[in-house]
Amino acid sequence: MDPIRIAIIGIGKIARDQHVPAIRGNSAFSLAATVSPHDAGLDGVPHHASLDELLEQGPAVDAVALCTPPQVRYDLAAQALAKGIHVFLEKPPGATLAEVAALSARADKVGASLFAAWHSRFAAGVAPARAWLAERRIDKVSIIWREDVRVWHPGQAWIWQPGGLGVFDPGINALSIATHILPRPFFLKDATLVLPENRAAPIAADMLFRDTAGAEIHMDLDWRQTGPQSWDIIVETDAGPLKLSHGGAVLSLPSGTEHGEDIEYAGLYSRFATLIRGGRSDVDTDPLRLVADAFLRGKRETTDAFHD
Ligand code: NAP
Repeated sequence: MDPIRIAIIGIGKIARDQHVPAIRGNSAFSLAATVSPHDAGLDGVPHHASLDELLEQGPAVDAVALCTPPQVRYDLAAQALAKGIHVFLEKPPGATLAEVAALSARADKVGASLFAAWHSRFAAGVAPARAWLAERRIDKVSIIWREDVRVWHPGQAWIWQPGGLGVFDPGINALSIATHILPRPFFLKDATLVLPENRAAPIAADMLFRDTAGAEIHMDLDWRQTGPQSWDIIVETDAGPLKLSHGGAVLSLPSGTEHGEDIEYAGLYSRFATLIRGGRSDVDTDPLRLVADAFLRGKRETTDAFHD
């Protein structure tokens, strides 16, 4: 079978760190081109300044991976789908829920695959955590996602702009795991979003969710963490605690701790190939819906200005 010719759109941090090696490491794909307005691209790979230019003048492609900031994702995805090109959406899948729904309907209509990728769901501890929790009573959940924005997002202006999500950019990864491993749906009861006085997106958030059986899920998100960083989910159950740490890579159960390999993007690309070969899409918006609800229902507090 011929490899799927894929172009990466948006050659920034995540494209270089993860997408390029994952595509090169998967024989189902060949990296046909890259697109980025200001970046020079990769040695030996055709490069274009815009998706328009790629579609008009570049090599033929079967699929695109959209690794841009979320605010420009819809137009690029719609343009690709209009040509019947399969689309991989980096997380979050869009800047609004309605635009993702429109893309999903469009993909179905043209018969192309649309994949809303949630990389943290492919972290090593997540699938075994989900299997273990399926049989348990959930009493209480604590999500602690505290990192230093200056280390992880230096100079990323888009992340602070409307639609960039601020601290929910990493926080949505925690929600992508929680919505995947917890056996019942959950919804927001209360939220406080803390915004620097000079920014349009939160630097911290405190949220309380409840699942449909009444168990409380508390989420502590903060971008002002220096020193040790936390990407932890602790689930208290009738069989003892489960802890997922390091963003889902390390799973601790009452019976012991498992350290898995980093397979997140390899897992995503193998899933994307399966979707394309099977003529299917996978567009789960649950994590984005919870974030949208936090913006819809949360209280706002203002804090000190933030400077990179
Ligand atoms: P980034 O370093 O700022 O890169 C984004 C790239 O998108 C920029 O290089 C920019 O290209 C390009 N771009 C902007 N508008 C474009 C357009 N209209 N057409 C084509 N390219 C365009 O951001 P990032 O950290 O890689 O994040 C990108 C997305 O991946 C975000 O949604 C983020 O949530 C997600 N993500 C990031 C990480 C991470 O660790 N950083 C992890 C997982 C997922 P130019 O530089 O050429 O202008």
